[in-house]
Amino acid sequence: MGRSSKDKRDIYYRLAKEEGWNLCAFLYILPYDSSKRIILGVCRAVDLCAAPGSWSQVLSRKLRGDGERSVGVKIVAVDLQAMAPLPGVTQIQGDITKISTAQEIIRHFEGQPADLVVCDGAPDVTGLHDVDEYIQAQLLLAALNITTHVLKPGGNFVAKIFRGKDVTLLYSQLKIFFSTVTCAKPRSSRNSSIEAFVVCQNYSPPEGYVPNMSNPLLDHCYDVDFNQVEGPNRVIVPFLACGDLSAYDSDRTYPLQLDPSKEYHYLPPTQLPIQPPYQQACHLRKHNLLAKEDVSSTPREGSSPTHDL
Ligand code: SAM
Repeated sequence: MGRSSKDKRDIYYRLAKEEGWNLCAFLYILPYDSSKRIILGVCRAVDLCAAPGSWSQVLSRKLRGDGERSVGVKIVAVDLQAMAPLPGVTQIQGDITKISTAQEIIRHFEGQPADLVVCDGAPDVTGLHDVDEYIQAQLLLAALNITTHVLKPGGNFVAKIFRGKDVTLLYSQLKIFFSTVTCAKPRSSRNSSIEAFVVCQNYSPPEGYVPNMSNPLLDHCYDVDFNQVEGPNRVIVPFLACGDLSAYDSDRTYPLQLDPSKEYHYLPPTQLPIQPPYQQACHLRKHNLLAKEDVSSTPREGSSPTHDL
């Protein structure tokens, strides 16, 4: 798909570029935040699975403002991939399933726990929905696991989920650690996508809980259909569609130029990928190294040379 068709297709992608955001889903959870005050008073925030960094960018702008409010504010971004530098954000290139990453986060906070942890982690999507949902759920539990090492009691956790058939299990697991769990679907997230966000407030682990990276919650129970669970065992999480009807609809196609009095200008991405997996292929193509050997003049191994009759 070409650049302009991508522009045309996703209104929130275009708006994020115009406003100078790397690419931003978190920005559109902010209508939810205005009522729930997730960000208010936060001094230490962790962005898990942060690359290329749009959530960190929002946190930095919201928590540090123009720089004056930045005293005491610390933001740590963690990802397996390297990220371009962002003002006011400390980056850790690491794995969220490792205890060493949790320890490094706490070191950056000088021994203090975080007030807020956010996670927009996503595995490389395979297209097999059950597999993708399962891996996403495992990644979320890994994020929850590391969160139990770094979050202060009373702190908040916001994470992306896929609302698949076992989502009830996820809600139940989160409810063990947080007194309030809500599922939020921002206007920027297409209706056709099973993506949504869990907003977990007031971290209150069970008494005597000792954070552990090999948390047994990560093991799935295959023989239970969690949607059939009833009574007190079934956790019903409120579902909230955030943003009002005046916001753009992410499932609609809008004209390229929203303001007809202005001329359309293509805006390049705010942050280009710094180490994309296709980098080597681009290099080979640019230097014409992808050219194939002309096989028509070389006889194939095992075949006898052809002669014109
Ligand atoms: N929140 C980011 C933003 O707004 O710019 C986008 C995050 S992207 C959808 C998902 C990220 O999860 C990828 O950059 C990937 O490297 C990261 N990720 C996946 N598994 C991870 C792991 N085990 N530890 C750290 N990062 C991981």
